Amino acid sequence: MKRKTHIRQTEPFRWENVPLLAYKEEDGTHFKSVTRQVLFGGGEQAGAELRYFEIAPGGHSTLERHGHVHCVMVVRGRGRALVGREIHELGQHSLVYIPPLTWHQFRATDEEALGFLCLVRRDRDRPQRPTAGELASLRADASVGAFIRV
Ligand code: MN
Repeated sequence: MKRKTHIRQTEPFRWENVPLLAYKEEDGTHFKSVTRQVLFGGGEQAGAELRYFEIAPGGHSTLERHGHVHCVMVVRGRGRALVGREIHELGQHSLVYIPPLTWHQFRATDEEALGFLCLVRRDRDRPQRPTAGELASLRADASVGAFIRV
């Protein structure tokens, strides 16, 4: 089947025939109030996928790391991101780069959703979550400890 060359936006942050998916296939308490839409799913011969994630006010993504990188652009709302041991304030059009094997977590503010585009390679490894020892090491930094949600 020929790949469509234009996908219409149907309402803000929704696109024609792009389903609104759960953030992760498995349930868990390691994330809260996140949706996922796959805008370009790898069938375009780009070797990459572009997803749109939206974290509702007060929500957060999973604290994780993996070998593949993320290239992120915020397109809605405000929030913060942990990258390694740094916490970045995010606003519309902020860019975030997550290097390989770097702990990361995104949080919306309590007042506003945080929506962002996230580019990943199509062939990629599974995310890892921190072990108890790794969590203790992250929490040794007080600002990181106060930020993370697991
Ligand atoms: Mn990730």
